[in-house]
Amino acid sequence: MLIRDSRDIQALDWEKTDGLLPAVVQDAFDGRVLMQAYMNPEALAHSLDSGKVTFWSRRRDKLWTKGETSGNGLRLVAVHADCDSDCLLVLAEPGGPTCHRETDTCFDARKPVRPGLAFIATLERLVAQRAADRPKGSYTTQLFEAGVKRIAQKVGEEGLETALAAVAGEREELGNEAADLLYHLLVLLHASGLNLEDVVKILESRHQPA
Ligand SMILES: [Zn+2]
Repeated sequence: MLIRDSRDIQALDWEKTDGLLPAVVQDAFDGRVLMQAYMNPEALAHSLDSGKVTFWSRRRDKLWTKGETSGNGLRLVAVHADCDSDCLLVLAEPGGPTCHRETDTCFDARKPVRPGLAFIATLERLVAQRAADRPKGSYTTQLFEAGVKRIAQKVGEEGLETALAAVAGEREELGNEAADLLYHLLVLLHASGLNLEDVVKILESRHQPA
């Protein structure tokens, strides 16, 4: 159930858990589970009103807007309740590392568990980071320095190589070329001021249920 307003908040099962519901925070873009904390009705209302994910701190006994001290806030995208209305799933966009250890998620520092497909979102973030930092010796840096025209040429080449591998029935080669193509496409999109989400939205809009 999508939680939108005070009526939705009142409909939740606060009694069962003494007025605090566990809130699992999930990255709205790549689906990774970022953290878990607790919300009372006030924290949930504040999250909805402000668009900033806010919990109830049991230790400090007051509202705690994530990021108010660290600066790494969570922009609220949506809140859903589970099937029996006693647990919250919070979809959010992290403004930085969510965990106090400076890792993206509280659940694992080095190798976050993420659905395989979501790696492409992670790769896109790395590409954006490379574009901002331009580390020396990085191939991605070289591409950004060379400019859109050169990157577009690489996308064309990799597209052709992908097509040729498919026609030749070379499955392994096809996989490799498709990986090259996707990577160069991410770089091209970023260099052109677009991102994967823009493209995915277009795909989604073509598949609206009738
Ligand atoms: Zn943590």
